[in-house]
Amino acid sequence: MRLVAATKYVEASRVLEAIRAGLTICGENRWQEAQAKIQAVGERRGVEWHFIGRLQRRKLKWLVGRFGLIHSVESLEQAEEIQRRAREQHTSQAILLEVNVGGEESKGGFAPDALPAAVSQIDSFPSVSVQGLMALPPWNPDPETMRPYFQRLKRLADRINRMPLQRVHMHELSMGMSNDFEVAVEEGATLVRVGTALFGARERRAI
Ligand SMILES: *Cc1c(COP(=O)(O)O)cnc(C)c1O
Repeated sequence: MRLVAATKYVEASRVLEAIRAGLTICGENRWQEAQAKIQAVGERRGVEWHFIGRLQRRKLKWLVGRFGLIHSVESLEQAEEIQRRAREQHTSQAILLEVNVGGEESKGGFAPDALPAAVSQIDSFPSVSVQGLMALPPWNPDPETMRPYFQRLKRLADRINRMPLQRVHMHELSMGMSNDFEVAVEEGATLVRVGTALFGARERRAI
C-alpha cells in the first residue's frame, strides 16, 4: 500500500517539509496549483506527482507526460484525449479509471455497468496504460458505511482482471481518504489519498 499525500491548498514549503520527512507521492487537484509546487519542489529524486482532481478536457494537454499517474479519468472521451496527447509526445500515460460507485449525479466517473465495455476499448489505446481503478464514494462520517463501496470497486477490478485484455492492468485500487483509509486498506486499497490527516484541515473551497 502506498500513501498519496493530497497536497491541494498546502504551500510548497510544507510539501517540501513533508518530502524531507519521507513523503514520496504528492497528489494534486489542479494543474495551476500543481505547476507552481512542482517547480518549487524541483525534480527531487524519488518524488512522484499524481493528478487526483477532476479532469477538464481542455486542461488535459497540460497533464499528460507531467504526472506519473492520473487517478481520475472519468470517461472514454477523456481516455481518448489522453491517448492523443500522449501519442503526440511519444510517451505513455499511466491512468486509473474513476468509477462512480455511489451512482451520484454530482460526480463523474464510469458507471460500474459501463466499465467492462469501456475497458475493452481503452485496451486498444497504445499510449495509455491503465493501472487500475479509483473511487470517491459518497462521503459519510462513519467509515463503515464506505466499506460496501470499496468492496464494489475491488469486485469490479477482479471482474476486469478475468477479461481477456492485452494492455489493461488492475494492479492499483486508489480508494480511501483521511476519514476511511483504514477500511479502504482492509478492502484492498493499494493507494490511499490522504490530506487532512497529514496536513490538518484546510480552507474548504470547491474543487
Ligand atoms: C482532497 C482529496 C483527498 C484527501 O481528502 P482528505 O479527507 O483531506 O484526506 C482525496 N482524494 C481527492 C480526490 C481529494 O480531492
